[in-house]
Amino acid sequence: MRTPNASYCDGKSSAQQAVHLSVRQTVLDWVSSTTSGSFDIAQVRLDPAVGQTDAVIHLPTGGMFIVHDATFIQAWPKQISWIERSAAWVEDRISTVVALACLGLAIVYAVARWGIPLMAIAIVTLIPLGIDARMGEQTLVVMDRVLLAPSQLSLTRQQSLMNRWTRYCASVDCPAHQLLFRHGQKMGPNAFALPGGVMVLTDELVKLAQQDEEIMAVLAHELGHVHGRHGVRMVVQSMGAAAVLLAVTGDFGNVTDLASALPSLLLQTGYSRNMEREADAYAIDSLQAACVEPRHLATMLGKLDAKASDTGWLDSHPGTQERMQLFTAARGCHQP
Ligand SMILES: [Zn+2]
Repeated sequence: MRTPNASYCDGKSSAQQAVHLSVRQTVLDWVSSTTSGSFDIAQVRLDPAVGQTDAVIHLPTGGMFIVHDATFIQAWPKQISWIERSAAWVEDRISTVVALACLGLAIVYAVARWGIPLMAIAIVTLIPLGIDARMGEQTLVVMDRVLLAPSQLSLTRQQSLMNRWTRYCASVDCPAHQLLFRHGQKMGPNAFALPGGVMVLTDELVKLAQQDEEIMAVLAHELGHVHGRHGVRMVVQSMGAAAVLLAVTGDFGNVTDLASALPSLLLQTGYSRNMEREADAYAIDSLQAACVEPRHLATMLGKLDAKASDTGWLDSHPGTQERMQLFTAARGCHQP
């Protein structure tokens, strides 16, 4: 045993035993002539020397070390605050903390990227169809006021297209919808579907098409948006968590208030890319069922792409080349 620098008292009797104390980082080691041990410094309390008295280290066991060597106390680690302790804990586990922060960010991203769109699909099934119709009506009123003008197509041309479309829908299972003609003005060649099934076709798009099949192909794509209830889904998606609350309370009255934001939502961002892909897949299936070749949609896309600066139809749509290849490669008919 090294030279004793302290005495041990068990706190019950006055008997003292010579010990040697030493400090190893945050551990207090002690050695007597017969045995040895250690304490975590955080568990002991130091009473510094006052005047002629010795410093005392109180132990969690109730015993104490009476320290005779002043230099030992000078080397005593200063009290560590809980902040320093926490910082040391974080430092020890910095990789864990970074991993947890990354995991947190990944969860937030996943919820925004996949969770909310999936949730929107589920919530839309709970919303009565009448809400779609009211949202569509409101949106059309705004668009008619600020963007569109009455169609300048002759009534004969409108009627012939309407008849062609009616025949199309007689051969496939079209969801409930209403086809309207408008002059697009600044919108140029365009077609869009509103919640509730209103589909608007601009005069400019009709004139851009060389064959009616090209118009049928564009309408089949828009019908995909109607079928997927994409307008309501957009609103629900943009509402995020608030939509969950509405679904729980069943108070869908507020959805129509929020729908007043739909025109600008549609014009600024369009439908999401996922919705566009869904509408494309729907169009191919529908066109093949009606034996209208999907390549007509590719032709129309090529023309719209050339006029892309004038029209917003392609803004949110997936890459035009990719889509054109998809439609060109698709078979003309379901029948072999
Ligand atoms: Zn679309």
